[in-house]
Amino acid sequence: MKKMPVLFVGHGSPMIGVETNPFTKALNRLGEALPRPKAIAVASAHWVTPGTRVATQAAPKQIYDFSGFPQKLYDVKYPVPGAPQEAQSVVKQLSVAADEAWGIDHGTWTVLKHLYPKADIPTFQISLDQGKDFAGHFETGEKLKFLRDQGVLLIGSGNMTHNLRDLDYDENAKPFDWAVDFDAKAKEELDARNWEAFTHPQTTWGQAAFRRAHPSVEHYVPLLYVLGASEKQDELSYPFEGIQHGSLSMRMALFQ
Ligand code: ZN
Repeated sequence: MKKMPVLFVGHGSPMIGVETNPFTKALNRLGEALPRPKAIAVASAHWVTPGTRVATQAAPKQIYDFSGFPQKLYDVKYPVPGAPQEAQSVVKQLSVAADEAWGIDHGTWTVLKHLYPKADIPTFQISLDQGKDFAGHFETGEKLKFLRDQGVLLIGSGNMTHNLRDLDYDENAKPFDWAVDFDAKAKEELDARNWEAFTHPQTTWGQAAFRRAHPSVEHYVPLLYVLGASEKQDELSYPFEGIQHGSLSMRMALFQ
């Protein structure tokens, strides 16, 4: 079996779950172009726990983990099956906890709805351990490499920049200079395969610039899982580049 790709994806506003725009169209195209996975594992910004947890249910519930959005977003159904066998293999391999309580949060379903609209590829989530530093998250990503040989597509779902205080309600607002600069530097370091730059972001971007782009780090961390699971020989591409709402970089990075 050919090694499966690893994908970092921005998810931005939950409204992408009901939108059609250049970003969702890029997801449509990508879903058609990628080799069909046996299962999907997602490290989502929206599941942060003490210790790593792996969702092992056969029928994960869809979580609407946001408030104040239009009813049509709550009407979106993504009834994807779980992948208990693959999830249990992560539990064993990493010696971490199985979880029956979580499900599929919006970091997962608003993206997968466009990537695999039929909801027919078994999916499970892996949580972000709040006790780990950046290098620790990268190491967890390295330990997840084995999934790629088992037909599992690993996705990190966060954002390359994620500042909700600066957010402009207009999706197509002119991007802030700080977001453009942060995103450009990220691309430069990705192209250079300089993973050290990402495990030491305060040094790479400077304290203030990193805090501006990530006032809290949960949308940054999923990238480290993707980098950890990447291999030197992988080809790197960017199926989508762009900044929405002025402050949310939606950059995708694909290793395959
Ligand atoms: Zn989010």
